[in-house]
Amino acid sequence: MIFSLSELEHHPILFDVTYAPGEIGFSEELRQKGGLHAAGKAELLRNTLGEVRIRGHVKVELETDCDRCLEPAAIGVDNDFDLFYRPVVKTSSHGEVHLEEGEIDISFYEGDSVGLRDALREHVLLSVPMQKVCREGCKGLCPECGANLNEKSCGCAAQRVDPRLTALKDLS
Ligand SMILES: [Zn+2]
Ligand SMILES: [Zn+2]
Repeated sequence: MIFSLSELEHHPILFDVTYAPGEIGFSEELRQKGGLHAAGKAELLRNTLGEVRIRGHVKVELETDCDRCLEPAAIGVDNDFDLFYRPVVKTSSHGEVHLEEGEIDISFYEGDSVGLRDALREHVLLSVPMQKVCREGCKGLCPECGANLNEKSCGCAAQRVDPRLTALKDLS
């Protein structure tokens, strides 16, 4: 769904859409399970130079590899978003746009429309936690034999002898 400025100039646009897996395309590691549902409103803010506000609610189930054991880890995103888009400003000197303090949540759009898919992709990626684990307290993989320690205890840890004890043994 694309919001054209000429339409937004007349009225806000309500949306209620579902994107099938692959339509948005997050990243290779992040797989979308089922439809992504988003509903909300896009509007052109008055008394601005074409600033567009898109807000609403998004819900999607994602899956990735657990950071510790590499088994699938489910990530649910179910939250509100409130995004601001400004037209790209081409300054005469070096084409750089300087953001004022506290404006880091503003993105930019080029041309005469703002795409909902890009907005949702950006928001969902920011909602994914830094640490992605299959469960709380995932034990991960054994560094010695690679066994999944959530499923079995391999015994490697027990066999590993504390180097300090080995040193003592050598002395005796
Ligand atoms: Zn895990
Ligand atoms: Zn092991």
